[in-house]
Amino acid sequence: MAIDLLVIGGGINGCGIARDAAGRGLAVTLCEQDDLANHTSSASTKLIHGGLRYLEYREFRLVREALIERERLLGMAPHIIWPLRFVLPHEPGLRPAWMIRLGLFLYDHLGGRKRLPASTGLRLAGSGFGAPLKPTITRGFAYSDCWVEDSRLVVLNAMDAAARGARILTRTRFLSAERVDGLWQARIEHRATGDIETVSARMLVNAAGPWVSRILNTDIGIDSGKSVRLIKGSHIVVPRLYDGDHAYILQNPDRRIVFTIPYEQHFTLIGTTDVPHEATPGPVTISDEETRYLCDSVNRVFTRQLTPADMVWSYSGVRPLYDDATANASAVTRDYVLDLNGAQGEAPLLSVFGGKITTYRRLAEHALEKLAPYIPNATKPWTSGAVLPGGNIPDGDVAQFVTELKRRYKFLPADLARRLVRAYGTRVDSVLGKATSLAALGEDVGGGLTAAEIEYLLTQEWAVTAEDILWRRSKLGLHVPPGTKAALEHYLAGRVRHRALNAV
Ligand SMILES: Cc1cc2nc3c(=O)[nH]c(=O)nc-3n(C[C@H](O)[C@H](O)[C@H](O)COP(=O)(O)OP(=O)(O)OC[C@H]3O[C@@H](n4cnc5c(N)ncnc54)[C@H](O)[C@@H]3O)c2cc1C
Repeated sequence: MAIDLLVIGGGINGCGIARDAAGRGLAVTLCEQDDLANHTSSASTKLIHGGLRYLEYREFRLVREALIERERLLGMAPHIIWPLRFVLPHEPGLRPAWMIRLGLFLYDHLGGRKRLPASTGLRLAGSGFGAPLKPTITRGFAYSDCWVEDSRLVVLNAMDAAARGARILTRTRFLSAERVDGLWQARIEHRATGDIETVSARMLVNAAGPWVSRILNTDIGIDSGKSVRLIKGSHIVVPRLYDGDHAYILQNPDRRIVFTIPYEQHFTLIGTTDVPHEATPGPVTISDEETRYLCDSVNRVFTRQLTPADMVWSYSGVRPLYDDATANASAVTRDYVLDLNGAQGEAPLLSVFGGKITTYRRLAEHALEKLAPYIPNATKPWTSGAVLPGGNIPDGDVAQFVTELKRRYKFLPADLARRLVRAYGTRVDSVLGKATSLAALGEDVGGGLTAAEIEYLLTQEWAVTAEDILWRRSKLGLHVPPGTKAALEHYLAGRVRHRALNAV
């Protein structure tokens, strides 16, 4: 039996499209070669933002769409998306104040801002916002955007797609596809077993991020005339640089900007860089030069001086930007292009070039719009405002929900209650079940990561390895004591042995 849609890629765009399509009643399969969000979609700056700096490149369409999405997404998943205030220190000699004021005016008004506060000018000298900065910096501006747990957003989209009937296959690689009698015949490989499966699908979506051109040109053999520019971006994490919940947006003399963002309670996230990536897509790591660049960006503005030795963690990702032939890596468009291939009567192939986490929901709607002529009884867009799993927190009030959880599960330490609500929202009950004591949550492999939570992640969220659990389903990797990874691997191996024995 042919399915309606095969989606290649379990990053934010593939999962967003799978969710939207499944919700319209289509029979959907998604294949991801690694873990969900294994690549770019877990390596972002984690901002749901209009992209203030894109105004300089006159990307008004993108900024407007992103600003509108900002408040929509905030309502759809308040447990993993929250407002973040940004302070922009003003330095004479860089962008003039009038230009920043104009940019912020547009930013406030382009996208129907309702819930987030407006931008303002700031006197930094003698204020809390100015305290960690060099005393020569006396003025600045403040504006708002949102924070997102990027890899969890991907997983929540996959969960919702599955709840609406989609088949989500992780660790399953797309190998090739050809058009036969009006259908796609695609070969996918289940990597755990090496089994090859042929999937018949009426439509194919190529949302392979950095691999989009490779899938098109090599695996399917189509030259769309479009391609991606791969630009590496890296972040460093250091012990908390300053007090307060606000972020800073720092302007560099090279006209690039770098963010410092409060991260995981005890840390500050600093990024990002823009480095052309000429190699084939795959895992990437930060270079010494990028680390120094990020430290230097902070050291220009903050009194506290960083060295690479302060770094406790770093991560890098490759942006799959639509190649608009711009020379400067920072100036390449951050907008997306959807390429539809297929003459009349042929099975369609839709490829996604570029895109932001922020605009994934709208991108998915556009993708379904493009495919609509091939879908009999195509239904209307439905995802605007449809909450993601765990996001139906009353009034979006996460703090109140934590208090409520503590009332029901009195044994939960406050930090654990907060962490679980931030991760799972109203789904937290599926993690905690009927437990009446911490012991009832089973073995604690370290840092409050219990068997109950591990089982939830394995059975509900496609986690398989310790890395999936510690770095993509959570950021526990930053917090847990030494030995936790080994204990978790031991737990996972025991489970695999147990299942193998039961299967005999
Ligand atoms: C440094 C950096 C900072 C960023 N900051 C932000 C930000 O703050 N806000 C924002 O909105 N956006 C940001 N972005 C952009 C955003 O992260 C990306 O646009 C987005 O994650 C791309 O998602 P994707 O699904 O297209 O690609 P990916 O997440 O890479 O997903 C593609 C998936 O396809 C899979 N795949 C490839 N080949 C195959 C195959 N043969 N078979 C099966 N699966 C396959 C890959 O394994 C991969 O998981 C940032 C990006 C970077 C790199």
